[in-house]
Amino acid sequence: MGISSFEFQAVFEPSVRGPAALSEAAWWFVFQGGHLLVQPQAGGGLAPPCMRRIETLGLDAGAAHYLGTLDGVHCLALDAGGNALPPGLEAQGLFGLYGQMDDDLWLLAGRAFQILEWDRKHRYCGRCGSPTEVRQSERARQCPACELTVFPRLTPAMMALVRRDNQLLLARSPRFPKGFYSVLAGFAEPGETLEACVRREVYEEVGLEVSNIRYFGSQSWPFPHSLMVAYVADYAGGEIQVDGHELEHADWFEPHALPKVPGRMSIAGHLIEWFVREGQAVDSQS
Ligand SMILES: [Zn+2]
Repeated sequence: MGISSFEFQAVFEPSVRGPAALSEAAWWFVFQGGHLLVQPQAGGGLAPPCMRRIETLGLDAGAAHYLGTLDGVHCLALDAGGNALPPGLEAQGLFGLYGQMDDDLWLLAGRAFQILEWDRKHRYCGRCGSPTEVRQSERARQCPACELTVFPRLTPAMMALVRRDNQLLLARSPRFPKGFYSVLAGFAEPGETLEACVRREVYEEVGLEVSNIRYFGSQSWPFPHSLMVAYVADYAGGEIQVDGHELEHADWFEPHALPKVPGRMSIAGHLIEWFVREGQAVDSQS
């Protein structure tokens, strides 16, 4: 089990502090109203601007967050605020950009988006209301009055592929496109282990008990700040029941007769693909 496609293919070295001034072109992950600014590439596809002086696009480099280097090239995140769209660039949602951009740049754009969102939403202290300040030594904002420190927020969400012999459990939410199914998912609650979250979510959503919960892999999911943690579990008892609101239908599916399911963009797609390839053949007692 396990997957590597949600990790950088090139060498990414994260850092919170970059050079005082850029001496060469850098990747600029500029967001405007939640959309990434990209430009069409000569060879096809889209990419963020790669340039030394982002000021030439009418943007303020002083407000940028340094991300690190990708194969030695500096990377920065910047919120364009209400500025007019710079000429030659288009604003696109991150979700729809998957597959249109280099995978590493897409991963970095997700990182940039989460840092900018966190930064924008923690300008003031949640405890005393004073304006917060950026900490230089780490990715954090701190309140100078009461010293409350806030780090970028991550929300762990569990994903569970439940299998019974050579079948897997898939379910659909009324929010999904017509005919579309996926594995079960839900957010961890305070005080809960990840395994307990899997057991609770499966029981709450479909009324089944599971055993043999094993880690599969994880994925940063910047919509808006989730960390997806995927597991495989074996059916251990109960009959499928759905509440009609959260889920409208759930059922056991054979690998050769699947409905529409997520693709390789998400770890859900990788889980299902793994099951189809080898998961149903693995001995449950292993
Ligand atoms: Zn405070």
